Amino acid sequence: MVNLVWLQGASDTGCTVSFLNAEQPDVVQMMRKFGLNIAYHPTISPASGTEVIGILNHFARGSDRLDILVVEGAVQLGPDGTGNYCLIGEKPFKDIVQELTRVAQYTVAVGTCASFGGIPAIGSNPTQATGLQFHKNKKGGLLGASYVSAAGLPVINISGCPAHPDWIVQTLEAALLGKLDNLQLDEYQRPMDFYGEVAHQGCPRNEYFEYKMSSKAFTEPGCLYMYLGCKAPFVYSDCNKRLWNRQSSCTRAGAPCIGCVQPNFPEETLPFFEFKQLVAQGIRRTIFYMLSCVTLKFASPKRLGATKPALGCIKDACHLLSMKFGRR
Ligand code: SF4
Repeated sequence: MVNLVWLQGASDTGCTVSFLNAEQPDVVQMMRKFGLNIAYHPTISPASGTEVIGILNHFARGSDRLDILVVEGAVQLGPDGTGNYCLIGEKPFKDIVQELTRVAQYTVAVGTCASFGGIPAIGSNPTQATGLQFHKNKKGGLLGASYVSAAGLPVINISGCPAHPDWIVQTLEAALLGKLDNLQLDEYQRPMDFYGEVAHQGCPRNEYFEYKMSSKAFTEPGCLYMYLGCKAPFVYSDCNKRLWNRQSSCTRAGAPCIGCVQPNFPEETLPFFEFKQLVAQGIRRTIFYMLSCVTLKFASPKRLGATKPALGCIKDACHLLSMKFGRR
């Protein structure tokens, strides 16, 4: 039997919903096939109150082996480092996380909040929310840069708001099969299998992107990059290949990628629906991009529905210049 404890700090339970939506394998298959014992999960466990405290203390004392600790949600250190903004029973959540990470064979941070701080850590961050081993894109967080679990691994981060169901269960499956040590991680300690290429790969709007044919409204065919601020060319995840509910992705549904897996999400990618990446890079690159838009628009194939390319070029140029000089 493999014991798993799932803790939840500052979050909206979105990653739990994702976990429960998993189907390759689903949660019940993981329990039956791999002998997974979910000793505690705040949403699905029948235990409550003192019984939960008893379970957590049982593992913290080492009375049973804690194989996998999953943390969902940011850890709030405030006020003044006491952690009293987030308590389980009478104990700060941060202390419970520290106790269990000392004994856990593997520690997995699920979601951008647990990985990097996420939405709870934005702005002035009054609750001092942080991730388990990162604060935004800086190593440290609650546990510090040098933390390793009992099996000798750092926190495995599965970022995303929420994380894709496959990313969660296939990472847990690797732990259950004793293969977590073989996972190749990126600089933010995320499995390269899921975060190894840009989210733009696999988007069905790629041909529009190549010919700079852009949607101006969420419902239009075309690339969502220039007018609607799609962040996918700069964001690392396989969202457009793995698909959500096995059939869709943000860009397939007409919504630009907002970069929810990024360490500095959401500040890094705000405003979500504005194209700011290129125009932030200087006038020469902006002019070069404008010229390439002109060339590619005239070269675009008829099947993409190109009409009046000259007019389109003028509109794109006006849009880029207004983004650049702030006259929108
Ligand atoms: Fe790439 Fe986004 Fe355009 Fe799709 S909509 S082609 S992901 S930039």
